Amino acid sequence: MSPDSDSDTGSETDRAVDRPPSVDKLARSIADVGLPHPLLVDAARSAIADGDPDDARRRAVELSRQMLTPVINATGTLLHTNLGRAPLAWSQAATYSNLELDLTTGERGSRMATAPTLIARACGAEAAIVVNNCAAAVMLVLAGLAEGRGVVVSRSELVEIGGGFRVPEVMERSGARLIEVGTTNRTRLADFERAIAEHGDDAGVVLQVHQSNYKIIGFTEAPRTAELATIDRPLVADIGSGLLDSRCGWLKSGPPGWLAEEPAARQTLEAGADLVTFSGDKLFGGPQAGIIAGRADLIATISRHPLARALRPGSLVLGALQDTALAYLNGDGDTIPFWRMAALSVDELRTRAVSLGTGEVVDTDSTPGGGTLPEVAIPSAGVAVTGDHRERLRQRARPIIARVTDGRTIVDLRTVEPGDDHEVAAALSSL
Ligand SMILES: *Cc1c(COP(=O)(O)O)cnc(C)c1O
Repeated sequence: MSPDSDSDTGSETDRAVDRPPSVDKLARSIADVGLPHPLLVDAARSAIADGDPDDARRRAVELSRQMLTPVINATGTLLHTNLGRAPLAWSQAATYSNLELDLTTGERGSRMATAPTLIARACGAEAAIVVNNCAAAVMLVLAGLAEGRGVVVSRSELVEIGGGFRVPEVMERSGARLIEVGTTNRTRLADFERAIAEHGDDAGVVLQVHQSNYKIIGFTEAPRTAELATIDRPLVADIGSGLLDSRCGWLKSGPPGWLAEEPAARQTLEAGADLVTFSGDKLFGGPQAGIIAGRADLIATISRHPLARALRPGSLVLGALQDTALAYLNGDGDTIPFWRMAALSVDELRTRAVSLGTGEVVDTDSTPGGGTLPEVAIPSAGVAVTGDHRERLRQRARPIIARVTDGRTIVDLRTVEPGDDHEVAAALSSL
């Protein structure tokens, strides 16, 4: 018998009043929290170990709050990294698929023949492949095209994007060597040409990295994609954000003003980049993925690298990407939740804010987020309530994530699904 088992042996007096309760019994007593028994046991055991068995329920509830769960994003940040970037619906039955079967020939097919091909079509690339995220995409491109050789990159683009994506470190891991040119604020085409002349065949690739999340202002200079394309080496542009086409043909209202500065995959390829890399869950509005699109011969070379196998996505991601790509090809931005939210007019949002019937209706600014477009503000509307109520709102069964400005809790309706408005209203009026 273990000391804390619930045996009948021993007299009542053996059971000292302050003897720890049975872990198992305590775990059973909090079963209504709804966690699997082993996790209830963890909560019970840790509470008992800390001499506070009454705290077991609170610990179990806290544990259950750590599960991945839907939240209402009222922050106005469209691609909120903490909230999973682009919102996306995806469900599928428990079924097999033709993931790697060519239904025409009955032969083995390629998982890259579906979604990646559609994405290539949508951005005017010859071919594309998909990996797990953009960091992986950059690493695979460099490994595939420049392993053991040099990659020429401007000193102003040796950036850290967040979540630990640091260009120099990714390069090192890819097996390519960094050839830095220019200065922090100014780099010219001639700097690249000099490096190529100096390193010869050892300089395998020219890399251009979008400074997604910061800006250098003042005395600056950087060669345009079209200039870098004149260099006799493959030009890889890591645009990161995943804007597919600057004309935004999928939006009835045309390209929004706040996108003006953002490089797009189609236009970057047209300007002469041989490959572009971008995230699936930023402005592309799909699942987490990294897309490599451009010249078919380079895509084929990259696909043969052993890392391509290690970084390949599964059918859930490829299915979600396929749906997103089809929406672009159909010119139907409304079926991509990110674009539907991004395109909402301030008038619509103000009307919804008034309908909430609680708090003070305010004009506010949304942001794209996701480490894209620093300083960009998208006019929006919502409601404000005096005081900081973020914690209360977070504690709801379906947490509502809001922001606080000048001592007021702001609910920005741009990132709230209209179907959730009533829930937001109920939460605010209960404060
Ligand atoms: C966001 C970003 C990345 C990293 O993308 P993940 O999909 O998060 O790995 C890489 N490069 C640029 C330029 C980015 O903006």
